[in-house]
Amino acid sequence: MRALLFGHRRRHFQVKETQVITEPIRISREQHPISRRNLTPGTLKVLYTLKDAGFEAYMVGGGVRDLLAGLEPKDFDIATSAHPEQIRRLFRSCRLVGRRFMIAHVRFGDEVAEVTTFRGPITDSHERDETGRILSDNVYGTLEADAFRRDFTINALYYDIRDFSIVDFAGGVEDMRLRRLRLIGDPELRYREDPVRMLRAVRIANKLKFDIDAASAEPIPRLAALLREIPPARLFDELLKIFLSRDAAANLDGLRRYGLFSHLLPLTEEALEADPASAALVQRALLNTTDRIIRSQPVTPAFLFAALLWPAYAKRVEQLSREQGHAPAIAQAQAAEEVIAHQQLRIAIPKRFSMPMREIWALQPRFINRSGGRAKRLLTHPRFRAAYDFLLLRAQSGEPGTAELADWWTQAQVADPASLPAIPESGQTENLTAAEPGAPRKKRRRRGGRNRSKANGPAADNTNAASDGSDGDVF
Ligand code: ATP
Ligand code: MG
Repeated sequence: MRALLFGHRRRHFQVKETQVITEPIRISREQHPISRRNLTPGTLKVLYTLKDAGFEAYMVGGGVRDLLAGLEPKDFDIATSAHPEQIRRLFRSCRLVGRRFMIAHVRFGDEVAEVTTFRGPITDSHERDETGRILSDNVYGTLEADAFRRDFTINALYYDIRDFSIVDFAGGVEDMRLRRLRLIGDPELRYREDPVRMLRAVRIANKLKFDIDAASAEPIPRLAALLREIPPARLFDELLKIFLSRDAAANLDGLRRYGLFSHLLPLTEEALEADPASAALVQRALLNTTDRIIRSQPVTPAFLFAALLWPAYAKRVEQLSREQGHAPAIAQAQAAEEVIAHQQLRIAIPKRFSMPMREIWALQPRFINRSGGRAKRLLTHPRFRAAYDFLLLRAQSGEPGTAELADWWTQAQVADPASLPAIPESGQTENLTAAEPGAPRKKRRRRGGRNRSKANGPAADNTNAASDGSDGDVF
């Protein structure tokens, strides 16, 4: 493909003091497999509208990269010479978003196209923090400047709507051929500018089954701690891309291998190192996620985080109940509060996910006591399904005492619970003790009841300790 150089004027482009890039390569339509049929109607519409209004317009990023790799892109990103206000004037349903850099979201039915104006080159005038992270970024530039602002060479390939050719400034086509993920420019500098690129390296390499180029891989363990500078809300978004993905298990391995994971989920890393059994549960959860994605079943962040944080939560429950003698309900509520509060320092898990996650945890001990109307009530609990799936996960990963329990609840959903055999007390799990089996049941509290001290007694029904909204204040 390199032979296919169109008649570009030879031009030099200064990326960094040390690196000079020459003219781009153009790969003509006959030389690459991307057809307009591969693009969504919304993407085509945006590209043509921009072009017809006299602007440059390209599909870029994951769209081009994934199509070249024979994968289905998650979304299509568009880069243009039009400025945000000009984009807005062209499209009726356009919203400008973003703080650091303005992005236009153009809506077509269900589809939202992300349109960005070419970024200008990084200069000394860009505001940085003391680690080198770029803080302000609002200078517009040319196509060339935009290309060198992108992270990896294979993410800087531009599909030109004028002649359907692909423009390659940074050697991305060659790297596609070599199945190699390579940062544009000096790796350390580029990671310092934006440490999230380290996470993207692991994720994108796994997605494509490419290797991370040695020079791009080398600085990652050294710089992994820079992730602490990233706002927790952005890391939450990145974590969803990493784990709600077909490559979830490989991504976990990659993040741990490069020393990135401990800066994201430190409690989980600790638990995984200390106890291989907890690794089994997390691993199983990620493999299940992959299966569900392949079968187009929904995957929820609440379930994902419930699994990722379960080993730390279960360990803390045990500490609080066995070592400090707390009643089960108290131990569970306090452990959930502590683990989530600690995690929020790194990853901002929105409350709409952390609340159901707590409920999934809080419902686990309720699977143990199945006497009287308890089983029936649990079966109709709004969060039963997620909690039951979580019980299955614990059973699949070999957590002691959960296999029979999981079987019982599987049957209970199709049979009358009263007709099912009782499971002996030895079926209880080690670390999530149920409330005293023989103790008189407390009057059921109203949902949303706020008086937590009611759950303190040894006879408390531990069910709602963490699920009635009373602990929400910590978020
Ligand atoms: P996917 O959409 O499959 O997650 P992607 O590479 O398209 O992968 P996006 O977040 O959609 O990821 O970003 C679109 C493009 O924007 C990237 O391909 C890259 O060119 C550029 N980009 C995204 N994040 C960064 C970053 N942190 N630094 C530099 N360029 C970036
Ligand atoms: Mg994308």
